[in-house]
Amino acid sequence: MAHDDKKAALVDWARAHAGFLEGKALFATGTTGGRILEALPHLNLTRLKSGPLGGDQQLGAMIAEGRLDVLIFFVDPLSPQPHDVDVKALIRMATLADIPLACNPATADLIVAGEGG
Ligand code: PGA
Repeated sequence: MAHDDKKAALVDWARAHAGFLEGKALFATGTTGGRILEALPHLNLTRLKSGPLGGDQQLGAMIAEGRLDVLIFFVDPLSPQPHDVDVKALIRMATLADIPLACNPATADLIVAGEGG
C-alpha cells in the first residue's frame, strides 16, 4: 500500500520488480491496488477496502492471523493522514509480528534482494 503522494513510486517499484511479484499472492488497499493493477493487470492481487475506510485494519488483521509474510507500505512523511491511528496500528502489527516492513523504495529493494529477487 502507499499514501497518495507515494502511489506513483509504488507503481514504479512494482513495475521494476514485476518478475519478483509474479506468482505471489498479493494484497493491497483499494486505491493502491487499483493503480498497481492498471499498470500490471496480470498480477495475482486482491484489493481490500480503501485504507481510510478500513483497508489498513484489514492488512493488520491479516498480519495478526499470520497471513502476510512482508509489508510494503510507502509512507508519505510530509502529509497528515486522516487515518493516522490506523497507519500506526498497521506498522505496530508488522513490528510485533516481526515481518519485513518497507516504508520506502530503498528498503523494499533490500527485501527483494534478500529474497533472492
Ligand atoms: P488506498 O489506502 O490505497 O485505498 O489509498 C492507502 C492509505 O491508507 O492511505
